[in-house]
Amino acid sequence: MRTFFTTTLLICGLLQGQAQLASPDIIEDKQTGKISIQPIEHASLLVQTGTQKIYADPFGADHFREMAAADIILITDIHGDHYDQKSIDALKKPSTIIIAPPVVAEKLTGFDKDHIIVLKNGDQTKQGGLMVEAIPMYNLPESETARHTKGRGNGYVITIGSKRLYISGDTQGIPEMRALKNIDIAFVCMNLPYTMDVKEAADAVLAFQPAIVYPYHYRGQGGLSDVNEFKNLVDAGRKKIEVRLRNWYPGN
Ligand code: ZN
Repeated sequence: MRTFFTTTLLICGLLQGQAQLASPDIIEDKQTGKISIQPIEHASLLVQTGTQKIYADPFGADHFREMAAADIILITDIHGDHYDQKSIDALKKPSTIIIAPPVVAEKLTGFDKDHIIVLKNGDQTKQGGLMVEAIPMYNLPESETARHTKGRGNGYVITIGSKRLYISGDTQGIPEMRALKNIDIAFVCMNLPYTMDVKEAADAVLAFQPAIVYPYHYRGQGGLSDVNEFKNLVDAGRKKIEVRLRNWYPGN
């Protein structure tokens, strides 16, 4: 009996894990044609162009066993919900390039030097027609004992064709975020006590005014943040920002 239940749960779990991923969004780009955005889980996402598959912070290896291998993997920080070696291993092929801050690059296994691009805050790299810039991500007030100290992890701005994507990583509404310009698609975290609340996130988003924003990384100590409230706050600012609410927690 136990075996039967275990097997059934396993099968259901696997089927659920794959079936419940949010549908990808397709965004038209006049240079590359189409960009597909696939929310996966928490801070994990897949951005696909006609020629490239770019994963950010792959986490939860079960999702990735059936997914296409990565051309580029971006890692923002050292914590297990961002740097998950098992998920990286599941997505890796011989040509995969991984982009990471130094603290992650030190721990990575399975990549030779030619396939690891180490970026510190402010660095940038061009990979296969893609420009990737590393942006600070950190908690306020700055402190050596903060969960996210300034300079350790990277947010990223990625230029694909004519579109600029921003991946916040784990951060508060820092001046560097508020000062971003010309962002077409933003992924912004909001979960306490690790990053910021929805009010602070909405205030920062109203400052840099991306065309589209996805709340992501919104499971915190008290459960899921109120992303509807985030949307209401952004909409109330009347800045022509489209808030896209998607299910980033397919197992729940
Ligand atoms: Zn995190």
